[in-house]
Amino acid sequence: MKTAISRKLFRQAKKVIPGGVNSPVRAFRSVGGTPLFVARAKGATVTDADGNTFLDYVSSWGPMILGHAHPEIVSAIRKAAGRGTSYGAPTAGEVALANLIRKAFPSIEKVRLVSSGTEAAMSAVRLARGFTGRDKIVKFEGCYHGHADPMLVKAGSGALTFGQPDSPGVPRDTAKHTLTATFNDAASVRRLFERNRGEIAAVIVEPIPGNMGVVLPTPGFLDELRKMTRTARALLIFDEVITGFRVAYGGAQELFGIVPDLTVLGKIIGGGLPVGAFGGRRDVMAALSPEGPVYQAGTLSGNPLAVAAGLAALTELARKNTYRKLAEKADYLGEGLQGVFQKADLPTWTNRVGSMWTTFFQEGPVVDYATAKKSDTAAYGRYFHRMLDRGVYLAPSQFEAGFVSLAHTRRDLDRTIAAARGALSGWPASR
Ligand SMILES: *Cc1c(COP(=O)(O)O)cnc(C)c1O
Repeated sequence: MKTAISRKLFRQAKKVIPGGVNSPVRAFRSVGGTPLFVARAKGATVTDADGNTFLDYVSSWGPMILGHAHPEIVSAIRKAAGRGTSYGAPTAGEVALANLIRKAFPSIEKVRLVSSGTEAAMSAVRLARGFTGRDKIVKFEGCYHGHADPMLVKAGSGALTFGQPDSPGVPRDTAKHTLTATFNDAASVRRLFERNRGEIAAVIVEPIPGNMGVVLPTPGFLDELRKMTRTARALLIFDEVITGFRVAYGGAQELFGIVPDLTVLGKIIGGGLPVGAFGGRRDVMAALSPEGPVYQAGTLSGNPLAVAAGLAALTELARKNTYRKLAEKADYLGEGLQGVFQKADLPTWTNRVGSMWTTFFQEGPVVDYATAKKSDTAAYGRYFHRMLDRGVYLAPSQFEAGFVSLAHTRRDLDRTIAAARGALSGWPASR
């Protein structure tokens, strides 16, 4: 595989961009090697600057559920661009997109559009604090809600201690309001509610975490969160930035039949353009400026290009049988890969929900952050590079999801399974 141009671009990039990338995980740090500089993408494939083409399961980290450069989305963006790219004034498209989101998510009575998932999660937490008049929030170790200060916290010395910032630059005074609990452990949340009576504004959770690798909620866990938050008059916030329009049209809340107070969306709803959204109960959303006192704003919020792309994407996804087709593809790939891993006699554990999955390089089970962390990341790195050599582009980190898109054909999936067979043949068992 030729990589001369990517390597040269990376050297140049590192001189002018920190680490050579505009988002850390792109840098291949956890798998080693040089990131591929992408020149273009179409359908299920990405092509790098050296002209190598790969079957893509990164999917821009989730948004590209219809495949790259989908004709309907490209055409919608072209048309919108011709009408001007930003006005700083309301548009009909925003109303249409809000209505599509509402229809898909009955829990969302009102919604605000922003420009990223980070911004949406940050704003939802501010709104929850403003609405309840409380400062503390509960998040789960290993769940990612963007990089706003209050969310850059994982458990320090245990699930019951006050949050320690994950990053320099996050004030302790900010982090101390973030309490961390263990995913799939309702008792860890109950203890936080007992020790912080009347002080917790919200519990924010990825209902199906995708940012420690895919982890499934155990039956009843999300129901428990719903009950506890209701009893404590705290809000339940589902961060469905990945799962929204992914695991079902109506996200994880449709799948599990749970009604959160607020929902955070992003990724798929922008059709590949920068977008985020948060919405929920009418009375809670009424606290948001200019209707209410909780401030939130954005020069490019509801940007006409992003809205046009989002409308096209959600309209495509609303077609009959979309999610059945996606599940068929994902099941086929999942079963094929499972067979390959079993034959290879290699300890792996796969968590999968529909078209998102993670294969952990360990025996499992993986149910939370602590168990996810047991994975052999060096082995994942080897597997990643062997797959790349065989034309398959997986996430350059063990703790990410793979995404199947509607553009993956049966032939693509067969090629992927064959690539995995090749990658694992002669696998070093004890290194
Ligand atoms: C990607 C992601 C975010 C952040 O979205 P950005 O658009 O990258 O800011 C927030 N929450 C979850 C669950 C995500 O996967």
